[in-house]
Amino acid sequence: MHLKSLTLRGFKSFAEKTTIFFEPGISIIIGPNGSGKSNLVDAILWALGEQSPRSLRGETMGDVIFSGSSKKPALGMAEVTLVFDNSDGFLPLDYTEVSVTRRLFRSGESQYLLNGETCRLLDIQELLSDACLGRRLHTVVSQGEIEEIINSRPEERLALIEEVAGVHKHRRRKE
Ligand code: ATP
Repeated sequence: MHLKSLTLRGFKSFAEKTTIFFEPGISIIIGPNGSGKSNLVDAILWALGEQSPRSLRGETMGDVIFSGSSKKPALGMAEVTLVFDNSDGFLPLDYTEVSVTRRLFRSGESQYLLNGETCRLLDIQELLSDACLGRRLHTVVSQGEIEEIINSRPEERLALIEEVAGVHKHRRRKE
């Protein structure tokens, strides 16, 4: 399983529909300060179901919607779609490609779609947590977090490794 593409429309600085394709292996995004590199990472987190605006570097969730520029007026909706290659069946769905879409309107209404079909946030969260994807599972590791890991105490580092390996939830249950 790997992330095949990321499509943004009206998300933060990406007013126009923009698709980025990824291949297996390492991809690097380069650009000048403020060009939107971190917005791409925010978009991935958001589509994976992130519920904290602060984790997306905003005050309210509405901050993710394109707020206008000197050339373009503000938009009323943000949409992000992630497409995963699932030819190895890693995600427990009978599809070789799985898409996850999240939309948010200025009215506050939000929508989640799995392979284009409307679903609940819970459906997406359950699917992704089975595949160990999600913020608390360290799918996305930011600059500050790398420093935290390096400077952490051995017990903290053990907790992190256990969380990623999926052992932590069993330990918590046992306790
Ligand atoms: P750096 O290298 O400095 O970390 P970056 O390439 O990661 O920068 P981002 O932080 O992703 O850049 O993008 C910041 C830009 O996104 C700013 O110009 C900001 O105005 C713009 N931006 C953020 N939210 C919105 C929004 N809702 N509408 C329009 N533009 C936005």
